[in-house]
Amino acid sequence: MKCKDCNGESLVKCKKCSGEGFDYGIHQCASCSGEGEYACPTCGGTGKVKLFKKLKSS
Ligand SMILES: [Zn+2]
Ligand SMILES: [Zn+2]
Repeated sequence: MKCKDCNGESLVKCKKCSGEGFDYGIHQCASCSGEGEYACPTCGGTGKVKLFKKLKSS
């Protein structure tokens, strides 16, 4: 089923730089390497999560 953390996009917007890729508009964001987004840790960048995993965590 679709990962709700990334809405199935497989990528999540970097919270640290608000998806800008740069901290404070100057320094390249270390968390996302300047990409502004990174592979979703919940689904491992697949955009999908297995149902049993979800049931276990809830
Ligand atoms: Zn995800
Ligand atoms: Zn970032």
